[in-house]
Amino acid sequence: MIVRQRHTRQRAAIMSALEAANHPCTPEELLEAAQVRVASIGMATVYRAIRDLSDEGRLSAVALPGAAPRYELAGRGHHHHFECAGCRKVFHVDGCPGDLARLAPAGFTLEGHEIVLYGKCPGCAASSKSA
Ligand SMILES: [Zn+2]
Ligand SMILES: [Zn+2]
Ligand SMILES: [Zn+2]
Repeated sequence: MIVRQRHTRQRAAIMSALEAANHPCTPEELLEAAQVRVASIGMATVYRAIRDLSDEGRLSAVALPGAAPRYELAGRGHHHHFECAGCRKVFHVDGCPGDLARLAPAGFTLEGHEIVLYGKCPGCAASSKSA
């Protein structure tokens, strides 16, 4: 029973870390944020919680080309991402140009798309200007 409670507390720490972050997090970022709440939390627990929460449909994986998978809360709806070339953080991009079916070659049926924006976040843009 004690084990079960600890498990729940660790999961709650990971969920609130994700809510507070408001951007897709790597397991390492989640570990760091969750340790603020539950100091004893370890990497294995973070990976197990990610797997359990994904199975339950509460987490979505964000897989960007050439980047380690990140995780965000499920249920955000259709949206895209911005990867900062400075700090390598990934941010949500709300909105979508839509109407991409017109780009598909004649005779092709579009079933989905991925759009990733690359550039600098405000923090990195500011520090590269002052450098
Ligand atoms: Zn940045
Ligand atoms: Zn997102
Ligand atoms: Zn879209």
